Amino acid sequence: MCSQGRSTVKAELFLLFSFAGLYLMGSLVRYGESQRLSYHTAFAQLPPPSWLSLSTLLRSHFVEDLPGAGQDVGRSCILVSIGGKNVMLDCGMHMGFNDDRRFPDFSYITRNGRLTDFLDCVIISHFHLDHCGALPYFSEMVGYDGPIYMTHPTQAICPILLEDYRKIAVDKKGEANFFTSQMIKDCMKKVVAVHLHQTVQVDDELEIKAYYAGHVLGAAMFQIKVGSESVVYTGDYNMTPDRHLGAAWIDKCRPNLLITESTYATTIRDSKRCRERDFLKKVHEAVERGGKVLIPVFALGRAQELCILLETFWERMNLKAPIYFSTGLTEKANHYYKLFITWTNQKIRKTFVQRNMFEFKHIKAFDRAFADNPGPMVVFATPGMLHAGQSLQIFRKWAGNEKNMLEVKMQVEYMSFSAHADAKGIMQLVGQAEPESVLLVHGEAKKMEFLKQKIEQEFRVSCYMPANGETVTLPTSPSIPVGISLGLLKREMAQGLLPDAKKPRLLHGTLIMKDSNFRLVSSEQALKELGLAEHQLRFTCRVHLHDPRKEQETAMRVYSHLKSVLKEHCVQHLPDGSVTVESILIQAAAHSEDPGTKVLLVSWTYQDEELGSHLTSLLKKGLPQAAS
Ligand SMILES: [Zn+2]
Repeated sequence: MCSQGRSTVKAELFLLFSFAGLYLMGSLVRYGESQRLSYHTAFAQLPPPSWLSLSTLLRSHFVEDLPGAGQDVGRSCILVSIGGKNVMLDCGMHMGFNDDRRFPDFSYITRNGRLTDFLDCVIISHFHLDHCGALPYFSEMVGYDGPIYMTHPTQAICPILLEDYRKIAVDKKGEANFFTSQMIKDCMKKVVAVHLHQTVQVDDELEIKAYYAGHVLGAAMFQIKVGSESVVYTGDYNMTPDRHLGAAWIDKCRPNLLITESTYATTIRDSKRCRERDFLKKVHEAVERGGKVLIPVFALGRAQELCILLETFWERMNLKAPIYFSTGLTEKANHYYKLFITWTNQKIRKTFVQRNMFEFKHIKAFDRAFADNPGPMVVFATPGMLHAGQSLQIFRKWAGNEKNMLEVKMQVEYMSFSAHADAKGIMQLVGQAEPESVLLVHGEAKKMEFLKQKIEQEFRVSCYMPANGETVTLPTSPSIPVGISLGLLKREMAQGLLPDAKKPRLLHGTLIMKDSNFRLVSSEQALKELGLAEHQLRFTCRVHLHDPRKEQETAMRVYSHLKSVLKEHCVQHLPDGSVTVESILIQAAAHSEDPGTKVLLVSWTYQDEELGSHLTSLLKKGLPQAAS
């Protein structure tokens, strides 16, 4: 709202008549109580109507039954175009592929031209590789130099995971055409770290804001906003707090679109306590019978959850069997949890003051030699390491003994401790954010279909679930603030009516757009500001009259006739012989060939179009016979 018009005005602009390219005329403005002016019609001289369109570059179907401890399989990478801005959400890789399919197909973004010119920014929701694993490939190998936004913990942990993954792929598996350590470093230089609830201005028009997502340390949902249009992207999130993280939360931001993951679209999971009890029971039993337990978990996320769980259990049950976690990655991870303690849940934060929950009494760093120790033990190892490295050696050593909790003779148990929102959680988030529409990603088509129907029924909003490479386009009706000049308002007020919220009324003015701002001013002011001369449009028409008399006499007859017919209008006979009716001008002239005929030249302005047409048809009927 401009400072000139700080009164209570609401404008709806309907008829827009383009004049000099820059400004538009003929507007309809309503007085109301709102301080903002909402604008509804599409108009010709303005930037194209706003669209939200988004493409899922990739959305691999998550296979829930996949063996492994709650890992995220799939690649997240979504392109959003909003109010003329292009934003890429996440840049994940698929851990199940070793070829090109591992990374998203970035040719969807633009086939010609540099990505940096096309994209306004990239946002990474959290450090899981299916959300950030393709980032160094994207920025350093495909080529992107623009800003990459993520939270501080994600910025700290992401390069460690990328480097670990690179080592496995290149050093252990000998893969070629992969990003290097230097590329990870160069990629991370492009990162801008953000705080929760901090509004970050990417440029003059585009702003983003992070919200707490639970899930893993530093995971965030992002609101992307251009003008009055906005999108919320959840990334992975968890609506119930766990032992070390809090629940996801977002305010009632009413975005045009909410893009939510739907990994557990149909599942209402059994209570967490049940799963935890089950897990502890199984580990306890194995240890009691003198067995060894190998727990493959991703170093960051569930490892901390399970460490806390076992630590508390060991303490309570006074157990003596040693617990180890594989060195390196997990130690680093714990270091970051300590560093970003404010991102963990309240209980951990409280406890941290008295006793650091991450300084474990029963859990020690693992040494290769420990694997040969007799007797029971529990070892945490990352799945990556299970494929190649230390943990594989442990696995081979222990696999032959049925007392131990692993394959062949050993027993294998799959347990899901993955921290994704279930159907209930997703519905909860939709209820929190109150979006105009919902888009489901990162899930299995059949299950998404179920959730889609549920969302549409319960919230009465449209729900989309595009396939990979598919684009969804949503029209929006953005509110555009328009400032009104005081002069124009005063002129309207002078007509007697005071603003009334319940009674909208018309206000005419000229709409000026300058530097993407709108102002409604009087046409005189518009002309002055733009340094333009006023043009007048006149319509002209010739009417032939049979009249052998002189032109002056014909004009006199026309005057008398109109004076008697158009009583409510001002009809004048001017000294130069012409006749006027309001702004309409009538002149009589001789016919060039026929002396018995006179030509009436009628001209009127655009504003008097109605009267002009009426008058012309009147004259075409001829003049009454003059009284002799
Ligand atoms: Zn995740």
